[in-house]
Amino acid sequence: MFKAKAYSAASAISPLALTTIPRRDGTENDVQIEILFCGICHSDLHSVRNEWSEFMPTQYPIVPGHEIVGRVTQVGSAVTKFKPGDLAAVGCMVDSDGTCPECRAGFENFCPNMVLTFNSPDKHLGAVTYGGYSESIVVDQRFVLRVPSNLKPAGTAPLLCAGITTYSPMRRWGVTNGKKVGVVGLGGLGHMAVKLAHAFGAHVVVFTTSPNKKEDAIRLGADEVVISRNADEMQKHAESFDFILDAVSADHDINAYINLLRRDGNLTIVGAPPKPLGVSAFALIMRRRSFSGSNIGGIAETQEMLDFCGKHNITADVEVIPIQKVNEAYERLLKSAVKYRFSIDMASLKSE
Ligand code: NAP
Ligand code: ZN
Repeated sequence: MFKAKAYSAASAISPLALTTIPRRDGTENDVQIEILFCGICHSDLHSVRNEWSEFMPTQYPIVPGHEIVGRVTQVGSAVTKFKPGDLAAVGCMVDSDGTCPECRAGFENFCPNMVLTFNSPDKHLGAVTYGGYSESIVVDQRFVLRVPSNLKPAGTAPLLCAGITTYSPMRRWGVTNGKKVGVVGLGGLGHMAVKLAHAFGAHVVVFTTSPNKKEDAIRLGADEVVISRNADEMQKHAESFDFILDAVSADHDINAYINLLRRDGNLTIVGAPPKPLGVSAFALIMRRRSFSGSNIGGIAETQEMLDFCGKHNITADVEVIPIQKVNEAYERLLKSAVKYRFSIDMASLKSE
């Protein structure tokens, strides 16, 4: 065991602050990583403030962070995928049982024994896993991803959650050339969805509550932008979408979007507001529409997404911050005032 600097929260109402956490000495299958950048996902904020207490209660202290890019510093004797000096990435999961039907089908993200990067029971050290707001992490090589060499690390980090969470459902629902695709909420996930859907060749329409994001949406790859609080603008798109991805972090009217789907269209929600949403049966049954959810993606698909982003030169638009600004960053995240993902430069932790 060795000690690592990290930022943690002691309770749902405490700010994140400097602490020291234990990391395990690597086993033969482990990769030890010096973290260079870690993205700030809205899930970090939901978890730090225990907003998901009904579904996954937070155990304190919590060290969030699951959008990790770093440099390999050490590998175990059985590690074949990485060597010291390589760039490597870790997303939302660090382990799974590897034997259940979900794992065998490549869906580690649905394994009943999946271990999340933070706030999951830690079989090595007891207590819970600690995430990427830290100077280092030790992860089984099965859950470590390769980073395409042309992608800059700061903007690559958010691909590990925001990227795969939007890539996976778009692949699942056949987003391709010529499909009309809506993206609801131009935040961290939403802006990745726009870039990816554009790269898939879809006609992309962004729905935003923030009129000041209109120009950015077009620059990111949208063909049209709708201010969702304007009922007339919404009505123009009635019954026209093949697929809509909803990436909103707070309570909102989901039926307004279901009504924009054509026959057999699908709306997939990836946003995780704590309270249930009221879905109208009539909105679904009248056009045989479907409403579904999606949770990150499997490891092979995450690597596929990274390779796709490498090929198409796609990274997140990031605002790089030192870790000392993390609490301020959370307040801006709540105001939808991030363009479009914070990426923490972990070198800032060295000076503490
Ligand atoms: P984010 O950067 O804060 O983006 C959320 C966006 O939602 C905002 O930028 C805003 O976009 C819109 N929004 C916020 N409040 C709203 C409201 N009251 N009404 C309507 N729109 C509102 O968050 P994120 O990191 O992208 O995460 C989004 C959600 O996905 C979170 O709930 C997160 O926990 C969840 N998530 C799920 C998964 C999964 O696997 N399913 C993975 C990661 C994250 P506009 O300004 O454009 O309106
Ligand atoms: Zn996330």
